[in-house]
Amino acid sequence: MFERGIEIKTPAQIEIMRRAGLVVGKTLELLRHSAAAGMTTGELDAIAHDNIRSLGATSNFLGYHGFTGVICTSVNDEVVHGIPGARVLNDGDIISIDCGAIVDGWHGDAAITVAIGEVPAEVTELMRVTEESMWRGIAAASLGGRVSDISHAIETYIEGEGDYGIVEGYTGHGIGTAMHQPPNVPNYGRPGRGPKLVKGLALAVEPMVSLGTADSRTLADDWTVVTADGTWAAHFEHSFTLTDQGTWILTALDGGEAKLEELGIPFGGR
Ligand code: MG
Ligand code: MG
Repeated sequence: MFERGIEIKTPAQIEIMRRAGLVVGKTLELLRHSAAAGMTTGELDAIAHDNIRSLGATSNFLGYHGFTGVICTSVNDEVVHGIPGARVLNDGDIISIDCGAIVDGWHGDAAITVAIGEVPAEVTELMRVTEESMWRGIAAASLGGRVSDISHAIETYIEGEGDYGIVEGYTGHGIGTAMHQPPNVPNYGRPGRGPKLVKGLALAVEPMVSLGTADSRTLADDWTVVTADGTWAAHFEHSFTLTDQGTWILTALDGGEAKLEELGIPFGGR
């Protein structure tokens, strides 16, 4: 059912989205432990493809507007949408791995950023701030609130942590029978705006944060987004929904229970 262009899911449909979310979460955990110096991004993609298939799901990235991977692999100054291929990971790199899957027509979408070996402390901190901002954004979402409550919480957290660039021009999004649906979920903005947060809404929250500028550009491959100033960027993403009980992270292996408890947010999953 759609209300003003926003897809409202039944509890049964959310259950299927949870299955898709678990495929994504499990695949990302496998990739987190697989990523190593000397490996190519194409090899990571092959691992992801095998895993998604073996879990009985299909990829929503592969063939998306002609995309050739089942994951996006964005290394160092690459922000998002990097194409897996011959690039070799080196000790000291960071890589954003964005993954999606479809189960019975319902989509999941999430991303992590992983360090390959040792990285400078400021890069570790960039990754921590980016991931935490995603959680703070999700934690700011409650039934009856508005989409930009999430945006504002992400921005407020990042700005409180130091001098970072919140990459402009890319947002989180609604998710359901398609990977990208209305509404957009910006990573900054004033609270109390945008569509109401209601039961049956599912949103992907995905801050992209750099050590420098908020500006980016797209490489000649027409996909890879890099920071305009060459500083490194991190990217984390989860898909979540709100139930009467609380918040449910559809792409987290534990449904988000542990982290939500730490943030004092009721767990809405099962
Ligand atoms: Mg994604
Ligand atoms: Mg997404």
